[in-house]
Amino acid sequence: MKSVAINGYGTIGKRVADAVAAQNDMKVIGVSKTRPNFEARNAVKEKGYDLYIGIPERENQFKEAGIEVAGTVEDMIQEADIVVDCTPGTIGPQNLEMYKKAGVKAIYQGGEDHDLTGLSFNSFANYDKSYGADYTRVVSCNTTGLTRTLYTLNPLIDIKKVRSVMVRRGSDPNGVKKGPINAIVPNPPKVPSHHGPDVATVFDGINITTMALLVPTTLMHQHNLMVEIGNDVSKDDVLDVLEKRSRVMIVKASEGLGSTAEIMEYAKELGRSRSDLYEIPVWEESINVVDNELFYMQAVHQESDVVPENIDAIRALLEMESDNEKSIAKTNKAMGIF
Ligand code: NAD
Repeated sequence: MKSVAINGYGTIGKRVADAVAAQNDMKVIGVSKTRPNFEARNAVKEKGYDLYIGIPERENQFKEAGIEVAGTVEDMIQEADIVVDCTPGTIGPQNLEMYKKAGVKAIYQGGEDHDLTGLSFNSFANYDKSYGADYTRVVSCNTTGLTRTLYTLNPLIDIKKVRSVMVRRGSDPNGVKKGPINAIVPNPPKVPSHHGPDVATVFDGINITTMALLVPTTLMHQHNLMVEIGNDVSKDDVLDVLEKRSRVMIVKASEGLGSTAEIMEYAKELGRSRSDLYEIPVWEESINVVDNELFYMQAVHQESDVVPENIDAIRALLEMESDNEKSIAKTNKAMGIF
């Protein structure tokens, strides 16, 4: 039973903590917060996690709020076999020094640069590369979504070139200070966006260029892919391969799932924790092959698609399972993923 510490208990961190707790080969030994908010209170009172503070000078604030604290982040990582760093992007470099000093392995998230660890992770595309490594980075929600379907299609289709237009949610649902509220924002306004190069950090040799825009929605991202192919492939072949892949699901607009809003309503019906949708939904009607070009549309539940990847990354770094498919199957079973 391996001990996992979660540094940063926000959107991603609280989900990773619960996913770790759902496995039978690892346990949560602590989570960390910088502010004594409702998430800190729930972590202790509802979830029963030991809570450590990211900023030691704030200990009094936690005491005044009546939230029990087990120590500082530095104390927490002493106890851990591995840390999953879910702090906001850019805090990574300073934390890396702390992890190195403590001699503890660490997994970062997509908000950090690939250069921080020199290694990026996707369960399907490059699990082996992180096997036994000290540090890796689970790529972002968008990169995970692109990689999951493209890597699944790779054995079937001879991918010459990928183009994707990324329609990004303006904020997570709790993001009261972000936008846009009433605009479509090319973000970034230059091409390519960082998403294409980021896919290449986990999918060797792929030729992909992306462009991205932000829109006033919080539910999901949405991707529009155009893939130049060098072989003869039918829509049915593509559908068949995607249907068989776990963590990918085919949805039909004709069954009332024609939008991200309806897909998230479906996710609520599944009754999972926080109504999460770990799978990447691909619209069946969007799949088509025209003149050696494959087209498809997919969506990404940004708050949750990277969560199972973090569990597999823990098994890879700690050499708990050498076969990625076995780790994926184990994670899927524990989390009820299709
Ligand atoms: P978040 O803001 O929801 O949570 C971050 C948490 O870290 C907060 O609880 C904050 O209090 C805590 N924190 C801040 N500074 C800290 C410190 N010095 N020590 C300990 N804790 C600290 O952020 P998030 O959305 O969960 O993002 C975390 C990482 O995951 C980022 O790299 C982000 O890019 C990546 N990511 C986010 C999403 C998403 O859509 N939210 C999707 C995939 C990946």
